Amino acid sequence: MDVTRKTQIAAGLAEVEARIAEACAAAGRARDEVTLVAVTKTYPAEDVRILAGLGVREIGENRDQEASVKARECADLPLTWHFVGQLQTNKVRSVAAYADVVHSVDRSRLVAAIGREAVRAGRRISCLVQVALDDDPARGGARAADVPGLAEEIAATEGVRLGGVMAVAPLGEEPGKAFARLRDLALAVQAGHPGATIISAGMSGDLAQAIAHGATHVRVGTALLGRRKLFVR
Ligand SMILES: *Cc1c(COP(=O)(O)O)cnc(C)c1O
Repeated sequence: MDVTRKTQIAAGLAEVEARIAEACAAAGRARDEVTLVAVTKTYPAEDVRILAGLGVREIGENRDQEASVKARECADLPLTWHFVGQLQTNKVRSVAAYADVVHSVDRSRLVAAIGREAVRAGRRISCLVQVALDDDPARGGARAADVPGLAEEIAATEGVRLGGVMAVAPLGEEPGKAFARLRDLALAVQAGHPGATIISAGMSGDLAQAIAHGATHVRVGTALLGRRKLFVR
């Protein structure tokens, strides 16, 4: 193992942990209400192994081509895999083989496809409804008005379970304002589905605002592993 890399990642993790703890304290929340998902896209399986050695159990990826290989290389580790990127229906069979949670469910066809492939694989996959908080679905996510309907569809589909909601803060708006709308949507979904408790929000730059507005899962890449060489959303 690369000792230097391990030291780097341990330092990143300690800093992220400190930021999460501080944000929880500021919001009057317990630290264990927030789960850190380490987003390892563009970084090698060896980094996932280092994170696992440091106690991280939740790993996020956004491209199937990369994630499927990494998940296989790390099959011996006790990890939960989160698929957080835009998902095409022709990739669902592959994703359903390793993903435990899909954060980016934003249309009916995707619900049906994930359900079908999960049943086929003998698995049960948690699905989060991704919300376009600027109401522009171009970058992924359902319009706010479509969220309750999608949640119902997930709840009614075999092979999947309704986990909650997810969003990326829109550009050009104070993230806290956007995350407040996400929390309102999450509470509306929870009124009918008390088990759908996940609010996946917050990344390296805005995790504190997300935690202040109820995030249960933060998805952090850069602050843990460093700046990615390629721009990959
Ligand atoms: C890459 C990515 C993240 C992590 O972003 P950082 O700014 O590197 O922390 C979180 N969520 C999604 C959907 C991503 O694609």
